[in-house]
Amino acid sequence: MPLVSMRQVLDEASKGGYGVGAFNVNNMEQIQSIMEAARETNSPVIVQASRGARSYSQDRFLYHLMIAATEVYPEIPTVLHLDHGNSVETCQSAIEMGFTSVMMDGSLMPDGKTPSSFEYNVKTTREVVEMAHAKGVTVEGEIGCLGGIEDGHGAGLDGLSHLTDPDQAVAFVKQTGLDALAIAIGTSHGAYKFSKKPTGETLKMDRLIEIHKQLPNVHLVMHGSSSVPQDLQDIVNQYGGKLKPTWGVPVEEIQLGIRNGVRKINVDTDNRLAITGAIRKVFADKPEEFDPRSYLKPAREAMKKLVALRMTQFGQAGHAGDYKPVSLAGMAEKYAGDAVSV
Ligand SMILES: [Zn+2]
Repeated sequence: MPLVSMRQVLDEASKGGYGVGAFNVNNMEQIQSIMEAARETNSPVIVQASRGARSYSQDRFLYHLMIAATEVYPEIPTVLHLDHGNSVETCQSAIEMGFTSVMMDGSLMPDGKTPSSFEYNVKTTREVVEMAHAKGVTVEGEIGCLGGIEDGHGAGLDGLSHLTDPDQAVAFVKQTGLDALAIAIGTSHGAYKFSKKPTGETLKMDRLIEIHKQLPNVHLVMHGSSSVPQDLQDIVNQYGGKLKPTWGVPVEEIQLGIRNGVRKINVDTDNRLAITGAIRKVFADKPEEFDPRSYLKPAREAMKKLVALRMTQFGQAGHAGDYKPVSLAGMAEKYAGDAVSV
């Protein structure tokens, strides 16, 4: 099947009461890991690329690898999503290239660093919604600012500096008509999220629950939601890595989020750790190896295992065949006819 819209995948997730992992990719092996995990667990899937990933893969390579994914795994509903678009132009170029979903992150200015005003955020997000919906493409927006910085994107603040205000979130959704809303509840991008194991209190899960109460029909998105498992950190450090002690978002907190309107969960760091640990192990155990396949195969396998685990934990496993994908043209008609509530 062709790439599908994220709106349909999230609407179905909402009906089924589960979450869908959105995994970042830069290359062929990462795409293969995700698709193989999706087949093994029979899951719909969101594959996402940041601006950094688009530039690393020269855009066209990424796009054609994703088309290959739909050919090799035709039974899996697969979304291609732009992570943290910094401007209307970036979102437009993604839509032109064939992304079926885009994030307009107007919580920051186009430099990807400076927190913006509410008015700026509404204006740019609304503009992207109008452009995207005309083509049946999904739009994610963000209100409040995530902590940390990744791929040069982020205000570099701690996760608590710009939490999402529930009343502002309601106004933002109403004025933009977006499909999915990323909220700031204390999570950060990157590996170094927390210096000790976070609790529901550190993560401001009450804030998430309050937002869901006020916006029961909006698909919420948790960014910076890698769990940064200790065993993966240990493998990296055991084979020569130098990661400092760190904690991520516990899976049980994500599951609490899923019970309260979270439909999309962004995971990148965990996969990076799995890949790096597997490669370091080959280099340490078999220093005579020099065929890239000798370390990329175990890296691909390690990432697949982790993605399959997350798919099961988020609840998307078993749901790939639940529905018939609506084409982007069909989605555009629904938006035009207001059949999709925004
Ligand atoms: Zn993010």
